[in-house]
Amino acid sequence: MNRIIVFAFCVVAAGALAQGQPRESLDPKVTEVWDLKPKKITAGASIGEAPSDAIILFDGKDLSKWSTLSGADAKWEIKDGAITAVKSAGDIKTKQTFGDVQLHIEWRSPATVEGEGQGRGNSGIFLQERYELQVLDSYESQTYSNGQAGSIYKQAIPLVNACRKPGEWQSYDVVYTAPRFSDNGRVITPAYITVLHNGVVIQNNYQITGPSEYKGLPVYQPHAKASIKLQDHGNPVSYRNIWVREL
Ligand code: MG
Repeated sequence: MNRIIVFAFCVVAAGALAQGQPRESLDPKVTEVWDLKPKKITAGASIGEAPSDAIILFDGKDLSKWSTLSGADAKWEIKDGAITAVKSAGDIKTKQTFGDVQLHIEWRSPATVEGEGQGRGNSGIFLQERYELQVLDSYESQTYSNGQAGSIYKQAIPLVNACRKPGEWQSYDVVYTAPRFSDNGRVITPAYITVLHNGVVIQNNYQITGPSEYKGLPVYQPHAKASIKLQDHGNPVSYRNIWVREL
């Protein structure tokens, strides 16, 4: 609605210009919007702190906002204000489903370095249970570039490698636009994702080509709002301070 009104203003102004009125003679008030105000919220006191309108998904204490993929209680370890993937406990997902979001999440790969490549500190954040933002120890570990930390798995290489050392906390700040599908299942608009890794832009409005696939090329399948999923890849990767804002 807001956009329509602003657009209407622009049409009026453009119309005047088109009729040969010089810009200097136009009334500046015609293009000012006063009646519509953005909702007032309170920003976090520091970067990474949840603003007043955020949904807190993990506050350091419990996994009440999460379940296993089948809906059972999530069995990841809770310790020192963080959750850690437990081998064979499986992926966990939010009970609430989401579309477009801003997501803040902090993660830490194990201080004790074990394994190589995709086997070193592997987890992942799946937007809408489908589109993986890779979590991996990519500090001094080699793997395929479109599978390293900050990649959109098997699709988009991060613009830079902003990884901290294993054992150190890192942050992802994500702006995600969900794909839109027509009634007959066609993609109207694909998903888009922007990611800041430790405050550095590593994905800039990347157009996601479909669900993350280990083998083969992605193909979109229509879906509704869906959970945020955290991957159990068999490595004890930890998360903390997880919050989301619906956009
Ligand atoms: Mg992964």
